[in-house]
Amino acid sequence: MARIGVFVCHCGHNIASTVDVKKVAEYFKNYPGVAYSTDYLYMCSDPGQQMIKDKIKELNLTGIVVAACSPHMHERTFRKAVEESGLNPYLCEMANIREHCSWVHQDREQATKKAIDLIKFMVEKVRFNTPLENIKIPITRKALVIGGGVAGIQTALDIAEGGYDVYLVEKSPSIGGHMAQLSETFPTLDCSQCILTPKMVEAASHPKIHLLTYSEVEKVEGYIGNFKVTVRKKARYVIEDLCTGCGTCWEKCPIKKIPSEFDVGMGKRTAIYVPFPQAVPNVPVIDPEHCTMLKKGKCGLCAKVCPKDAIDFKQKDELITLDIGAIVVATGYELLPNDFYPEYGQGRYPDVINGLQFERLLNASGPTQGQVRRPSDGKVPKTVVFIKCVGSRDPAKGFTYCSKICCMYTAKHTMLYKHLVPDGQAIVFYMDIRAGGKNYEEFVRRAIEEEGALYLRGRVSRIYQDGDKLIVQGADTLSGKKVEVEADLVVLASAIRPSKDIDKLASMLNITKDEFGFLTEAHPKLRPVETNTAGIFLAGACQAPKDIPDSVAQGTAAAGKVLGLFSKPELERAPVVAHVNQNLCVACGDCERMCPYNAISLVELKDRKGNVIKIASQVNEGLCQGCGVCVVACRSGCIDLNGFADEQIYGEILALL
Ligand code: FAD
Ligand code: SF4
Ligand code: SF4
Ligand code: SF4
Repeated sequence: MARIGVFVCHCGHNIASTVDVKKVAEYFKNYPGVAYSTDYLYMCSDPGQQMIKDKIKELNLTGIVVAACSPHMHERTFRKAVEESGLNPYLCEMANIREHCSWVHQDREQATKKAIDLIKFMVEKVRFNTPLENIKIPITRKALVIGGGVAGIQTALDIAEGGYDVYLVEKSPSIGGHMAQLSETFPTLDCSQCILTPKMVEAASHPKIHLLTYSEVEKVEGYIGNFKVTVRKKARYVIEDLCTGCGTCWEKCPIKKIPSEFDVGMGKRTAIYVPFPQAVPNVPVIDPEHCTMLKKGKCGLCAKVCPKDAIDFKQKDELITLDIGAIVVATGYELLPNDFYPEYGQGRYPDVINGLQFERLLNASGPTQGQVRRPSDGKVPKTVVFIKCVGSRDPAKGFTYCSKICCMYTAKHTMLYKHLVPDGQAIVFYMDIRAGGKNYEEFVRRAIEEEGALYLRGRVSRIYQDGDKLIVQGADTLSGKKVEVEADLVVLASAIRPSKDIDKLASMLNITKDEFGFLTEAHPKLRPVETNTAGIFLAGACQAPKDIPDSVAQGTAAAGKVLGLFSKPELERAPVVAHVNQNLCVACGDCERMCPYNAISLVELKDRKGNVIKIASQVNEGLCQGCGVCVVACRSGCIDLNGFADEQIYGEILALL
């Protein structure tokens, strides 16, 4: 005989101002199978939880329904309280009378009626709940970090400092990401290389960090604590263990005029190259698209001059398999492509460049050794126009979000330009200025008030070339006038977008993206570095546009989550997984095909002598996320979901009828 306790929460005014909580609690006092019903101001508070624990013991309750907020918020809290009183935690359910009721309705009477219905469902469900035990999963205490920008480096360092092995996979030849390309950084103007390169070296020399550069994740199987990851280590055509980074090969390479990816086309590189002098590892790669030896079998000069015999033209890609317990994705961002705003002429006019290209011109170790020069003719530009929100906050082009960092780096660009060209004029076209960070507002003020940048509020409609000048046409919305500026150089603060191969990676990892392709966190406020797939975490600008302090903070937060996971002897997870009645299974394979997490497979069932007696489907409890797709797919009705058995669901439906 069920003895269910119903606990109705006011959530301060959140629920009680719309739902008559006293009336609701009163209703359940006479409901079949309910032994106790009450209301309380804050059920999640210590006294609220204590009340539930006391009543379980005092009245020998067999099931609990807490009518309050979303189970996302407090299911764990209440199940823990129930467990502490000696009752199985899975005999406790929540009815969401806040998000599903008080927050979405205004009519008190109707809302109260709906709250009663929602609680009824749960009472009928709890009546059929059975005690469940958590699933225990062994953990491989090794982490994989995908992306070696500042976020990924920070994550790897923090996990390694916690004592665990980390594989840091970076697709380009060096770690460092975009931060390695920057000149000086807002809001302190300290040199990017000076703060980043020591971290890069520390990561490379840390005994617990295993760098896999020029590598990409090819396949991910398994589940939290037990992933099997295949990494493709692309052929460098240089033997890393032999190379000393002396540079003789790239000095002698005759193929010299390839646009440098690292310099965003502002400089050139050779066919054998390191992306930048401080690269980690300081080992070159041969670009097979341009090397004449690899293309036509002619040249081989680098091999002849290499004092260490480190060149190996026969090197092949290598596939490495790793056992991994947790994965952190830190694949960062890209800028909007050049041809996105044809009206601005980027890609057509050499002197219309983007922010990263300008960073390379400002950089002391960049292609112009830190001199601001026009790409077209090498002259010093005396008027530079900076345009903000290029592709950001532009619903017409499909991008509604703010790229968050460009207000700040544009202010930085105007200052650094002024330091290098004191008689030059920086003009900024802006929609508004977003400088919400520590010392950020002061930084922008300094650019305007002390360093003489001219800020014009308005959008630019068109840029065209007139002789050696760029004519920038726009509007000053404050004065209401049209503006036309003759500029020598135009710098576009192009929108931040997720890395281009994010789609492939997201589907490989079974994690979700938002409408713009940024990876989504499990909860925007309470679980900002977790994904919806257990054991996979996020760090840095792959989740949303972020500056360096935020990327580093999120890297550390993700590392904290991984260390928390690795601190346990084995992993316990909720037993809400599917199970198959193999006697009834006809091995049609529908469930296997439908499961979005690849958690079901058909297996051979054998007798004691090893003879195959039947083929039936089987659930891998580590992979199953309890979505229930297989339950619906199975035509034989032989799959059930723990905690959501047929009688529980029918109980809920009957309560409504
Ligand atoms: P990234 O730096 O983008 O690094 C991601 C890494 O992941 C890259 O190395 C990439 O190659 C790698 N990767 C991508 N996909 C894969 C894959 N599938 N497999 C393996 N590896 C992969 N911030 C500041 O705080 N101060 C500044 O002054 C500043 N100036 C800026 C100026 C400009 C013009 C721009 C555009 C940005 C600026 N920023 C600044 C922002 C800064 O660049 C970012 O905050 C920072 O780079 C984010 O780091 P991240 O590691 O998340 O991403
Ligand atoms: Fe390495 Fe040989 Fe090139 Fe020197 S010459 S950087 S040792 S590959
Ligand atoms: Fe350059 Fe290729 Fe010749 Fe080496 S073999 S020097 S990489 S062109
Ligand atoms: Fe526009 Fe500033 Fe947002 Fe960049 S950070 S999109 S420039 S408002």
